[in-house]
Amino acid sequence: MFPADFAYVRARTLDEALDLLDEAHAADQEAKLIAGGQSLLPMMKLRLAAPQVLIDIADLPELRRGGWMSSVVGGSFGGSIGALSTYRQLGRDALLNGGVIRGRNENVAPHRAEGVPAITDVLTVLADPQVRARGTIGGAVAHGDPASDLPAVLLALNAVLTIASRKGRHPESHLGPYTPRRTRKEPLNIGKREIALDDFLQGIYTTDLADDEIITHIRISHQGGTASAYEKFPHPASHLPLAGVAVVLTYKGGRLTDSNGHVTDLADGSLASAAIAVTGISPRPYRARAAEALLKDAFPTQETLAAAAAQVTTESPGSANRVSLLGDQHASADYRAHLAEVLTRRALAKAIARGGRSL
Ligand SMILES: Cc1cc2nc3c(=O)[nH]c(=O)nc-3n(C[C@H](O)[C@H](O)[C@H](O)COP(=O)(O)OP(=O)(O)OC[C@H]3O[C@@H](n4cnc5c(N)ncnc54)[C@H](O)[C@@H]3O)c2cc1C
Repeated sequence: MFPADFAYVRARTLDEALDLLDEAHAADQEAKLIAGGQSLLPMMKLRLAAPQVLIDIADLPELRRGGWMSSVVGGSFGGSIGALSTYRQLGRDALLNGGVIRGRNENVAPHRAEGVPAITDVLTVLADPQVRARGTIGGAVAHGDPASDLPAVLLALNAVLTIASRKGRHPESHLGPYTPRRTRKEPLNIGKREIALDDFLQGIYTTDLADDEIITHIRISHQGGTASAYEKFPHPASHLPLAGVAVVLTYKGGRLTDSNGHVTDLADGSLASAAIAVTGISPRPYRARAAEALLKDAFPTQETLAAAAAQVTTESPGSANRVSLLGDQHASADYRAHLAEVLTRRALAKAIARGGRSL
């Protein structure tokens, strides 16, 4: 299938891309940004999307920059990933994937990063090398596909998006009007807002992104000592998840020193918190808050994990309602719910084993 006719223009800077969006808007033309094209082009070929103007943002230097602040001790790190980072580039990030980190000076010895194994899991089960080489993290979240892998892990990591526009701020942003630190070279007429990914994702191919906005970065902060995993049941043809579950577990820990200098290790193997995000089974990837509530402060055993997994499609803690479930010719709603429960048990057990603990 060929897509409908469209005009194509390549932006060189964020400023220019925002101008092009404004121009299309003023001319009453439907414009679409294109990054890796791995979702948009198939949709255009199937005539599910027919933009009149394609604005290519693949060259924008502002969307490539990112960077981490990491703590050598404890494995914690935080920072932002440029929206144009491809899956392949994520796979090469030593901090995310447990590679060797070399300090900038000789006082910091080379050491192996703890990594975020759930991200590494995604990169090994997502699509094929061609898609991983071109598909971008910004495109993956902006597309709002109810069945996509990476957004589930990003949800479990409490990711926050930075979005640029001419507006400067967004009145409905759940984190309030916000202007992240502006780089010295950035034009003053570019405004930015931040929004939690959980608030950004709204429904099937529906997000909080306005027509004149561009995602520039995805920010995460990762606490050292957490254990994570991603489990997926792929559709055999597309590899998209019929169901996928990401978990990030944080153990209780810390030390108490009394007035005599005696140190007590508070780590008893119980969980401080569990973040569980599910994709593929509902109109949008979601956090399974009812299942999370059962694991908070709990000691993980086969029974506690099974009880939490049984609640993975419950709408909220204490609710009798289920989340809205998708059912189609590929899998019924009940089958997807069953997959989510099984995958939750598996992902939890995998994360616990990775944390060096047994059930
Ligand atoms: C054969 C195949 C197999 C696949 N298998 C999987 C799989 O197993 N798991 C999975 O999760 N995904 C899978 N995908 C989907 C793929 O991961 C996503 O399509 C890709 O990550 C989207 O990124 P992109 O840069 O290609 O986005 P594009 O296709 O360029 O854009 C997608 C949408 O996002 C918008 N957009 C892009 N970047 C931005 C930005 N910075 N700001 C605002 N809007 C933006 C575009 O306007 C468009 O609406 C598969 C795709 C293919 C073709």
